[in-house]
Amino acid sequence: METANSKRQAALKQLGEQTFDVLVVGGGITGTGIARDAALRGLKVALVEKLDFAAGTSSKSSKLVHGGLRYLEHAEFALVFESVNERKRLMKLARHLVRPLPFLVTNYKGDKRFLATLALGLWIYDALCFFGNYRNHVTYGAKKTMKLEPTLKSQGLNGGILYYDCLTDDARLTLECALDAQSLGAVVLNHVKAGKLLRAADGRVQGAVVEDIETGTTVEVRSKVVINATGPWSDEVRALAGEPRILKPTKGIHIVVDAARLPVKHALMMNSPRDKRAVFCIPWGLGRTVVGTTDTFFDGSPDKLEPTKEDVTYLLETANSYFPQASLVEDDVLSTWSGLRPLLKPDDEGAGASAVSREHEIYDSPGFVTIAGGKLTTFRLMAAQVVDKAITQLDVTTRSTTATRPLPGSQGLDGTDEALAQLAKSLEGKGLPEGGPEYLAGEYGTRAPLLLERAAADGLERLDPELPSIFAQVDLAIEDEFARTLDDVLSRRIPLILRARDQGLGIAPKVAERMAAKLGWSKERTERELTHYRAVVNGTRAFKTAS
Ligand SMILES: Cc1cc2nc3c(=O)[nH]c(=O)nc-3n(C[C@H](O)[C@H](O)[C@H](O)COP(=O)(O)OP(=O)(O)OC[C@H]3O[C@@H](n4cnc5c(N)ncnc54)[C@H](O)[C@@H]3O)c2cc1C
Repeated sequence: METANSKRQAALKQLGEQTFDVLVVGGGITGTGIARDAALRGLKVALVEKLDFAAGTSSKSSKLVHGGLRYLEHAEFALVFESVNERKRLMKLARHLVRPLPFLVTNYKGDKRFLATLALGLWIYDALCFFGNYRNHVTYGAKKTMKLEPTLKSQGLNGGILYYDCLTDDARLTLECALDAQSLGAVVLNHVKAGKLLRAADGRVQGAVVEDIETGTTVEVRSKVVINATGPWSDEVRALAGEPRILKPTKGIHIVVDAARLPVKHALMMNSPRDKRAVFCIPWGLGRTVVGTTDTFFDGSPDKLEPTKEDVTYLLETANSYFPQASLVEDDVLSTWSGLRPLLKPDDEGAGASAVSREHEIYDSPGFVTIAGGKLTTFRLMAAQVVDKAITQLDVTTRSTTATRPLPGSQGLDGTDEALAQLAKSLEGKGLPEGGPEYLAGEYGTRAPLLLERAAADGLERLDPELPSIFAQVDLAIEDEFARTLDDVLSRRIPLILRARDQGLGIAPKVAERMAAKLGWSKERTERELTHYRAVVNGTRAFKTAS
């Protein structure tokens, strides 16, 4: 019988035996998107990720599939145009994961922009997607704005504008790209790190030595082109090829609070009282509200990223300035996440962090292509452009066809609200916890019924008293979703680390036991997994001790 371990062994064997057209290094949204695009074109593809899929920036974003209203301020019309149109496309191709979210942008006396200026910006925003947004924007006076968000500060409020962008689960979006790439024939592995590059006699890159992090075994992977899609690690991997640095990363953190403490129904675009930067307050569902993000230059190691007291104070201050009655304090913070934007060095080195462009750039040399910069929202377009560039080094001509291929969980959905609602309805009456049908339909789409069909006797048991997550999700994560560590399961497949009041620490031993049984872990390994997970949780709480 095929098991998670035997599937991994087979994939590792294939890595060493075949010659690939492309070896993609990095399993964030960029790398998994590239592997999927290339596999769909019929290329022979391998993808290696040194940690877990989305363990880098791609599970640490604001989770918005959006045009980026604020980029209009920097006149980045091309970026906004691409983004709003990708948003529209992803609402069809990944309908379960890319869901419309109402946003409210407010205007107060003394704000640097007038309500009319904001309305003009939103008119351009709607126009850039040919007025094909989920709904067009509407401007309201102060009274109606307060009705929409009754806990908002009323003093000095002139009014607000309601518009729509989308909220996603960034880690699952990435995972579904990896799953799709695999289903299209790509050899896809997490916990495998690319190291030394292999070179032909003429110096051309022709593969890499990769290490299975679980065993320390190394394999030489032969590939006609190596694609460096390592986000904030891009310069590290470029150094292996002797190529110069290109990044100027910025760090962004988010905090998670109980929705009862910050009960918003719309995502609010707030301005920090300190520096007037835009910060979001996002209704995250399942009883949680998220506030973020910060944007500060970072020159440390991407492997160690933690929130400081200063980061958290900045976000609490911003939220409290819009919701003074909430009076949020550090103890209200249930969890945090911290990510690095893999931004390109600006021409003007003196530019502030928020002014650095989110555009991407592709660099190539014989056998070696790097993609850096960009956004989660535009991953599909970026992937198509990178593969177009890579195939100029192969003897093939192919075109990207990802514009019409749904991600696995949206296969069989027609991209409408009704289809998703119907899917959730079909999961009712099956013994799921309250809210379970909508939650599973949203996370897994048309894969949700399979999850329930395969559920073990205790599969419907809850993982947390407040959340609708169940043990069947753990089993699916191990068997079908590449989960290899406790952290993979509790941080990304079912992110209790972000949503549960105890950050999943209570259920962690039971989940580890289940993983041990399925993956053949020893007692020592199981203990190590628990210790590591506790350390990851402590990292999210570093602001409590650090300054
Ligand atoms: C705070 C914040 C908020 C954001 N919000 C949004 C948003 O709301 N919407 C939006 O569209 N965009 C947003 N972004 C941008 C978006 O998240 C990133 O552009 C995107 O996730 C980058 O993905 P990536 O795959 O390039 O990098 P990553 O996700 O970091 O992936 C790179 C991967 O490479 C792996 N790797 C590194 N070295 C090696 C090696 N030697 N071998 C194998 N693997 C290796 C790493 O482990 C990592 O998983 C945000 C970014 C941040 C930081």
